[in-house]
Amino acid sequence: MSANELETLPISRAEFQRQEIFKNVSFESLAGYLLGCETIYPEPGALLIDPEQPKRRLLVLLNGLLEVHVEAQGGVFKDYIQPGHCAGEMSIFDNIKPSAKVFAKENCKILIIDGDTALAMLNASHDLCLNFLQILSHRIRTNNKVVCEEEYHIRCIEENAKVDSLTGLHNRRWLEEMYTRELSRSNSGNLHLSAFMLDIDHFKKINDTYGHLVGDRVLIAVAKSILHCLRPTDMPVRYGGEEFTIFLPGTSIENAKIVGERLRASIESMKIQLPDQDDSISVTISVGFTERKDGDTVETIIKRADDALYYAKEAGRNKVCVNLGDGTMFLF
Ligand code: GH3
Ligand code: MG
Ligand code: MG
Repeated sequence: MSANELETLPISRAEFQRQEIFKNVSFESLAGYLLGCETIYPEPGALLIDPEQPKRRLLVLLNGLLEVHVEAQGGVFKDYIQPGHCAGEMSIFDNIKPSAKVFAKENCKILIIDGDTALAMLNASHDLCLNFLQILSHRIRTNNKVVCEEEYHIRCIEENAKVDSLTGLHNRRWLEEMYTRELSRSNSGNLHLSAFMLDIDHFKKINDTYGHLVGDRVLIAVAKSILHCLRPTDMPVRYGGEEFTIFLPGTSIENAKIVGERLRASIESMKIQLPDQDDSISVTISVGFTERKDGDTVETIIKRADDALYYAKEAGRNKVCVNLGDGTMFLF
């Protein structure tokens, strides 16, 4: 190709040499292919790659800025393509519709190479192949990173949905999954497992007397005190309002009795400071507990603990009661 003919190509030698995809590739070796390509000048907002209308062509951004929109579960993930880089390279090989939309973010100058011409160019230049592979490798790594970050983000949201924001304890959503799992493990291994139901006594009166903020403060303090009395393997949950459940894996009824009394005494002895005052208040809890029986479900074991709790309330509150599972209740 003569020097004059080279002048008529849709991309100048200087532009060609600035492109990542043409790194170390001789301008002359691809001139014949470039002759059949075109340059376009899209305006901001122009849709250049559309998964709904796949075109199988390579876009080499000579000037301007491209914006990539990848649909993800957390919304639209945006990325940008700077001059010297390209878009659309994957679809050239796999002929699968693109996974992202690409827009012109600014006024752009883009060299368009159709898919077959791009493949013919790759046949003609070993260096172009290497550049393509590098670009594809980078693309795969970036995509993997996005997927991992997305997964991590989703996992965080899922975990947060299982935590009570006031007390930091797990909530019922967590209970349903984890108690079911723990009960099934204990049932199949015939292991000890005790279940507790706790309820703050006359809590409504605290709200009515001191206001909801103080009520919240009490809930936080009670949750903290519960945690303080337990082992790391125990499973406290804010069941709702001012009620808490606890699963104690590997804990027999005799040991559960000790834990129940420890919980009751620990909360009774707690002093909760009133905001902006020197005064503090105290609260008590009522506690019901029971041990796992063969054939128990989460509902049946919690129901027995709840019946024991009701018994403790009826007996005057600030008490611990065990439900032996045969209809017998014992107060401590
Ligand atoms: P008992 O000794 O029989 O358990 O009486 P109680 O007053 O503790 O029980 P009751 O069920 O009558 O009242 C529970 C109160 O807990 C009513 C509700 O407004 C309050 N409550 C539930 N959730 C929250 C919360 O997140 N913050 C605050 N401050 N109060 C709450
Ligand atoms: Mg209560
Ligand atoms: Mg209650």
